[in-house]
Amino acid sequence: MTDAQPTGDELVTIERHDRTALITLNRPRVHNAQNGALLYALDRGFQQFAEDDSLAVAVLRGAGRSFSSGHDLGPGADRDVSFDRRSLWWDHVGKEGVENRLAREEELYVGLCRRWRALPKPTIAMVHGACIGGGLMLAWSCDLIVAASDAFFSDPVVAIGIPGVEYFAHPWVMSPRRAKEMLFTGRRIDAEEALRFGMVNHVYPAEEVLERTLALAGRVSGMPRLGLALAKSAVNRAEDAMGLTVGMDSAFGLHQLGHAHNAEVFGDPNHGGGQAQLKRVTTQGPDAGA
Ligand code: ZN
Repeated sequence: MTDAQPTGDELVTIERHDRTALITLNRPRVHNAQNGALLYALDRGFQQFAEDDSLAVAVLRGAGRSFSSGHDLGPGADRDVSFDRRSLWWDHVGKEGVENRLAREEELYVGLCRRWRALPKPTIAMVHGACIGGGLMLAWSCDLIVAASDAFFSDPVVAIGIPGVEYFAHPWVMSPRRAKEMLFTGRRIDAEEALRFGMVNHVYPAEEVLERTLALAGRVSGMPRLGLALAKSAVNRAEDAMGLTVGMDSAFGLHQLGHAHNAEVFGDPNHGGGQAQLKRVTTQGPDAGA
């Protein structure tokens, strides 16, 4: 049974499939590029899921051809818009330099992803098409990842002088050597390779992935709510004991250093002199550079 429940705007929609909430990013014309409006709409979707006792598991997917092409750096980026923030960081709007970037990225990128990771109910990312840069952050915030056979993953931001996306989970969701290669080359990792890396749980043909993912969610939703919450917390704490949180904090500082260097040298925090390289690594095929 499907019961569409728009969240007030159409940037994110929620459908109910028994006890599973199917949450859909809905900016398909820009491959679900993430601006502030989309991320806060997603946060409202997760909040609605969290508060609804009849919902046990959430599946996060993207509408259109891709899961998410990353952070919106185009005309729809809404960088100068104030939102109802979830942390106690000051509003970045009207601030300059690091006061602007750090506050915005702590709140909008790292803060929201950590909030979603800590959601006590299980979440599953269902990834198809592109999962690039900031797209990784949404997938990695979820507990399980199911990939369609056409999915590919890439973090190309070393090409613009940034060490990796803000939610720097790379060395914990794959081996450190795999993480270094992914970052050093920026190349696409296809679904089967991501499966070998241990970064995704399952790969299914694109035409089957929704049915298979909902079946997995249905199986999980049969478990007791508290048991699931405790198991999730136990694994998350183990990841933290393996250094995820402090490592991510350290990398985020380096990330800000990269932005500051770009702003100082190139006059643009997202321009590290490698724009041509960035274009090359984001348009090449899955096997290039392997
Ligand atoms: Zn950044």
